[in-house]
Amino acid sequence: MKNKKNLSELDDLPPLRDVIEAHDLRAQKALGQNFLLDQNITDKIVRESGDFDGVYVFEIGPGPGGLTRSLLKSAAKKVIAIEFDPRAVAALQDLQARAGERLDIHHGDALAVDLPAMVPEPRAIVANLPYNIATPLLINWLKDMRKNQNTYGFMSLMFQKEVADRICAPPGGKAYGRLSVMAQWLCDVRVIYDLPPSAFTPPPKVRSAVVHFVPKTLPSDAPSFAAVEKITEAAFGQRRKMIRSSLKKYIGAIEALGLDPTSRAENLKVEDFINLAKLLKI
Ligand code: SAM
Repeated sequence: MKNKKNLSELDDLPPLRDVIEAHDLRAQKALGQNFLLDQNITDKIVRESGDFDGVYVFEIGPGPGGLTRSLLKSAAKKVIAIEFDPRAVAALQDLQARAGERLDIHHGDALAVDLPAMVPEPRAIVANLPYNIATPLLINWLKDMRKNQNTYGFMSLMFQKEVADRICAPPGGKAYGRLSVMAQWLCDVRVIYDLPPSAFTPPPKVRSAVVHFVPKTLPSDAPSFAAVEKITEAAFGQRRKMIRSSLKKYIGAIEALGLDPTSRAENLKVEDFINLAKLLKI
């Protein structure tokens, strides 16, 4: 592993299954708990994510701490783990004692935490996300990136495969939608790891995939996040309609940009939505 830390204090940790049993950390569906217990898998997620040297890494939902262990073996400056379940917070204390100040564990709701306010740049986010709140979490972080493209140097996030496909989808198909436009406007995105249900304990019903996000440099006249949200909501809210109907209010902008009014939302490129949003002036 690149920049691997020699952390012998992490070598003799108990197996994750023992941690789960000792802390009665039976998976709760309501908290989106599907744990990764195979260190080869979590090491690979970290390895494929890039260079952690000197980076403050947020992990959302560390659970019993498998991915946390792999992150602590990297050259990251610090791992900041945010966990909602008090049982998991208790289960991580052993790891905390060994990692010392390289690990900060916060008990709280990741949806309510202002990550950039917690640590300086360079930052990254690596997480096997709770699937029930994965999309709103991603939207929050994309908003952070629109405010400042350096907010996170990269993000490696595990989603249900269907959501990962939507994030990365090109125009022209059913998977292409609001999430594709928002994510691809702000970041280069690609799937770095595709996992079957059997990789998790307990196994979810669907396949999963890790998407890697690297922020793009935005021009100074980039539209606001709200404008892109508004135009994509209108267009994909009625995705079977032609844009002359779904985006009727913006017909002047459609004509000014020379877009075909008989196109449907899924046939517009990301840059078409961005150019439309620029004309909204919100
Ligand atoms: N990282 C661990 C792993 O890979 O084995 C656990 C991943 S599990 C899919 C999702 C984790 O997110 C759980 O530990 C769950 O308790 C936690 N979680 C759920 N909702 C949360 C929230 N609102 N804020 C922070 N953590 C949350």
